Amino acid sequence: MAIEEKKEWKLQDFEIGKFLGEGKFGKVYLAREIESGFPVALKVIFKEKLDKYQFWEHLTREIVIQSSLQHPNVLRLFAWFHDETRIFLVLEYAANGELYKLLRSVGHFTEKRAATYVASLARALAYCHEKHVIHRDIKPENLLLDLDGRLKIADFGWAVQSNAKRHTMCGTIDYLAPEMVEKKAHDHGVDNWTLGILCYEFLYGMPPFEAADQYDTLRRIMKVDLHFPSTHYVSSEAKDLICKLLVKESSKRLSLKQILRHPWIMNNAEPSGCCNY
Ligand code: AMP
Repeated sequence: MAIEEKKEWKLQDFEIGKFLGEGKFGKVYLAREIESGFPVALKVIFKEKLDKYQFWEHLTREIVIQSSLQHPNVLRLFAWFHDETRIFLVLEYAANGELYKLLRSVGHFTEKRAATYVASLARALAYCHEKHVIHRDIKPENLLLDLDGRLKIADFGWAVQSNAKRHTMCGTIDYLAPEMVEKKAHDHGVDNWTLGILCYEFLYGMPPFEAADQYDTLRRIMKVDLHFPSTHYVSSEAKDLICKLLVKESSKRLSLKQILRHPWIMNNAEPSGCCNY
């Protein structure tokens, strides 16, 4: 890592490059730290927008949590600084962009690619859970890919750092675990459920409980109304893993360690975590 940790950063320390994308709260640019030449993604957030949408708490949480995490599959937040009107986040640059876009462009992933991403996610989540961080908003839009095709979890705005069980409903509806739909207390088991949803979506191109309206999605989640379409071949080992993650009772879901030892992961995941083919 070539970014100095303790330095007081300012915009003049960076050369701004191409526009990378836009989120609800700001724009993201490729940038280079002038002294080291190190490429980063600079997220520019307008304070006015944070006021308007009462998003200060969300951003503060994102900054505190993400800057404390260092794992190959978690997007680094190197630093942040601000001026009168804007906040700047200095982020690790993920050159291959959103996993979501890749998934939409190819329809669905091969088993090898899907297993590699699921294993990367399981390792990253195990690291986060060890630090008592539950992400709670894992979805393809929050997953980025670096130059080597390695998966990076981004956007910790909905994450919590706590040992205790939580009650807040958050996350996108398709990825909600049953205990969150019911607004029951929940713990890190919600991220394991989401891993099952993502594994399905990687292999079939859509989340398993998708429905015409949100009420129907919630009903299907609560029933664990799981079907495997026959549009294309998916191995029985992959389906076995999905069935063992999409379990209503959170304590009965496979643990992250068990996921990494599951035969489908062992036989398919790329040990390097890189998928650049
Ligand atoms: P966000 O505001 O985080 O939703 O980011 C908006 C868009 O910018 C995303 O959809 C990505 O395409 C792009 N982007 C965000 N962060 C990065 C990053 N670290 N590296 C590369 N592209 C990024």
